[in-house]
Amino acid sequence: MDKYRVLVLGGMTEARELAGRLAARTNIDVVLSLAGRTREPIGYPVPLRIGGFGGVRGLIDYIREREIDLMIDATHPFAEQMSRHAVFSASETGVPFFVLSRPAWRKAEGDRWTDADSIADGVVKLGKKPRRVFAAIGRQELAPLCDAPHHSYLVRSVDPVDPPLDLPDARYISERGPFALKAERKLLSGEKIEVVLAKNSGGDASYAKIVAARELGIEVVLVKRPKAARAETVDNVLDAVALARQRLDSREYRGV
Ligand code: NAP
Repeated sequence: MDKYRVLVLGGMTEARELAGRLAARTNIDVVLSLAGRTREPIGYPVPLRIGGFGGVRGLIDYIREREIDLMIDATHPFAEQMSRHAVFSASETGVPFFVLSRPAWRKAEGDRWTDADSIADGVVKLGKKPRRVFAAIGRQELAPLCDAPHHSYLVRSVDPVDPPLDLPDARYISERGPFALKAERKLLSGEKIEVVLAKNSGGDASYAKIVAARELGIEVVLVKRPKAARAETVDNVLDAVALARQRLDSREYRGV
């Protein structure tokens, strides 16, 4: 019997969980697609395809050639381009489609947040006075830090920053989340961090730094999310599994 083919566009923890839960069903084949940014992606419970599709046209061809029955955009909330491509290719091909996007963090009592529209804006908002900055924004978009070389940076990313930034005072930590509150507290106080630069990624895995900053009274310059794609969206894995089943059940079964 032919199986339903589900393409999950991944890049965040929830995508891996979603793919695993869908693949546990006997009538579904799942392929999880990753951009290939992380050098050693951690174990995945389903077959992977790694690397870009070659733009929106490439994604459209992939959906058609593989006869995808359902596509789910479970990319990171800041993966703006991939999400745009997904919406466009879904409407071009007519493949059932929805988005899994975890909720943004919301300000809690004691948070000292300064909103930024982009990383570059966030760097400006670090201010003119030299400060000890913890930059937890990944390694792909670090270039704007070089516009503010007067700060002292501690940069954390999954993979090493190579080559290092052209900055007089920057140190690097390569670490993969999830991060525990105790360790985040120790890091921020031990390093005498004065301000955290982060993206409003949402989710639990990297929230501890926000809580630690709150407890220690440290400012967080928080980059707002890009505009969400216009598509049906669920905000957790279980709802995504349920919606996937609903979408597949309402499709005529291709099997013999
Ligand atoms: P992006 O700017 O939205 O996408 C740039 C290009 O990378 C896309 O056009 C596509 O190339 C390729 N791509 C992105 N996600 C892909 C996927 N799941 N499968 C296949 N190709 C993909 O994305 P980004 O911000 O560079 O993020 C790259 C990946 O890292 C994403 O999967 C995202 O979920 C994950 N991630 C991003 C962040 C972040 O803060 N941006 C944080 C954590 C994880 P083609 O045009 O050639 O198809």
